[in-house]
Amino acid sequence: MYDINQIRADFPILSRTIYNKPLVYLDNGATTQKPRQVVEAITNEYYNTNANVHRGVHFLSQQATELHEASRETVRRFINARSANEIIFTRGTTESINLLASTFAQSQMQSGDEVIVSVMEHHSNIVPWQLQAMQRGIVLRVIPMDDEGNLLLEEYGRLFSPKTKLVSIVHVSNVLGTVNPVKEMIATAHAHGVPVLVDGAQSIPHIPVDVQALDADFYVFSGHKVYGPTGVGVLYGKEDWLDKLPPYQGGGEMIQHVSFERTTFNELPFKFEAGTPDYIGTTGLAKALEYVSALGMNHIAAYEHELTEYALQRLMEIPDMRIFGQARERGGVISFLVGHIHHFDMGTLLDRLGIAVRTGHHCAQPLMERLGIEGTVRASFGLYNTKEEVDALVVGIDRVRKMF
Ligand code: PLP
Repeated sequence: MYDINQIRADFPILSRTIYNKPLVYLDNGATTQKPRQVVEAITNEYYNTNANVHRGVHFLSQQATELHEASRETVRRFINARSANEIIFTRGTTESINLLASTFAQSQMQSGDEVIVSVMEHHSNIVPWQLQAMQRGIVLRVIPMDDEGNLLLEEYGRLFSPKTKLVSIVHVSNVLGTVNPVKEMIATAHAHGVPVLVDGAQSIPHIPVDVQALDADFYVFSGHKVYGPTGVGVLYGKEDWLDKLPPYQGGGEMIQHVSFERTTFNELPFKFEAGTPDYIGTTGLAKALEYVSALGMNHIAAYEHELTEYALQRLMEIPDMRIFGQARERGGVISFLVGHIHHFDMGTLLDRLGIAVRTGHHCAQPLMERLGIEGTVRASFGLYNTKEEVDALVVGIDRVRKMF
């Protein structure tokens, strides 16, 4: 069922060498590699079907429109949304959150109203709210965590007040790997009558997500982190909520009728999709979702879980190893430091061995501050990584350690 050699053969880049060493790609949290199937779907559309969508009467435009809308349906099915009207295509997680922060704050919040986020958010789930804070005087409240990287749920419950208008939390931390109990956290918020946005950038590629089972009001993710192309992503929102929010950007596609006196807006999902959409990107994204669905998200989750357990155990064999994030439930992201070796030096020297890891603050500086460090080395796994690659990482780290 899960034939790792066959899977790896689908990803041409995995067989290349870096400095004459086989590539060990462990930077999947930043972006994932693309299977042949995704690249071919994109090429095929450019070669055979390319035309602007929605507006044309001609054959190609209609075929491109059908493909684009079929991709929306594929996304709907993948996250089990009730309706394709609830799937808004964006440029990615960052744009999805900015869209929501802007339209939600504009229509649902007043000066002094509060948004609850957590200490482990990516900057893209902090700064859009701070922009609204500057413009409209809204206030951020922050859920703390324990030293293992578990959010403190009792503290979370105490953050609610009549001024709380939204909770915006990450599903899986891109630094600690923590899988937050978002279903429970959503239930808590709903008990206070507050809707929840979930940042699914690091969950969608790794675990099955059912937005109805979670009862998430909004759920966002990026195509490029789930083996799809760059420049395309999704904002899922319950139809009732999306209906209440004003348009984000103005332009073509999002209108019903325009005159200089009065403009009326298109219905969902087009109200939020001004201008020519990335219809080639949505084809690639749908193909990527079909690819992971064919493998089975449960199988991917089980495979990556075993790989992560193995990696944690092997990494702990290295003297002076510090791993940040030992949460009760965790995904395949491992942040670490070894002795006093700077994360940048470790990353640079691993690169010379063909091993691609990420170093730095991982766009989570408030979390770094909480951990009392400036940055980490981060290895993050994808569905194609192997125990042999983990072994190569361990050997590589040990070599670097001995050099210092
Ligand atoms: N949220 C999390 C948890 C992430 O890990 C990332 C990217 O690393 C983002 C948001 C932003 O995603 P993008 O840059 O694709 O918009």
